[in-house]
Amino acid sequence: MDNDLVKLSQAADYAARRHVAQRRKGERAEPYLNHLTEVAAMLAEATAGSDPELVMAGLLHDTIEDTGTTRADLTAQFGADVASLVEEVTDDKSLPKDVRKRLQVEKTPGKSKRARLLKIADKTSNLRGLVASPPTGWTEQRLRDYVVWAEQVVRSCRGLNAKLEAQFDEAYDIARRRFGA
Ligand code: ZN
Repeated sequence: MDNDLVKLSQAADYAARRHVAQRRKGERAEPYLNHLTEVAAMLAEATAGSDPELVMAGLLHDTIEDTGTTRADLTAQFGADVASLVEEVTDDKSLPKDVRKRLQVEKTPGKSKRARLLKIADKTSNLRGLVASPPTGWTEQRLRDYVVWAEQVVRSCRGLNAKLEAQFDEAYDIARRRFGA
């Protein structure tokens, strides 16, 4: 029973339950789960199915930050590897937003390769979301700032996976042209 497909299905189910009330910030207010499954699918494809724990971490990557899940919860359910990957990509929400954003640029280069792959997929999904459905109430400047910041974070994730990098670059190019960043 304890095989990868079982664990992966459990991670998807867990993420869906944890984020059940959450919507994306965009005007379409898509279920948050769509972001998580997009990130997980990108990671699965980019690693050709060779790293199920990374795909699980993709599904679970916002549970600590957004749903009050703890690292201990994730360790108990999905093991230490998945829990530590999720923790690696989790911001400290006790810090102000501008500090958190600066720290992402500064700290991402020191993260593990797999955490950086997760970061690329996350930022790619976010940029696609920004273009498909810009958050209500965001000014043009705020949209531009996000696009520029996302590229700064991803800069230190380059050279790790050509497929993910190409997907990021495409999303970044479209967002940059759309918002004039
Ligand atoms: Zn995310």
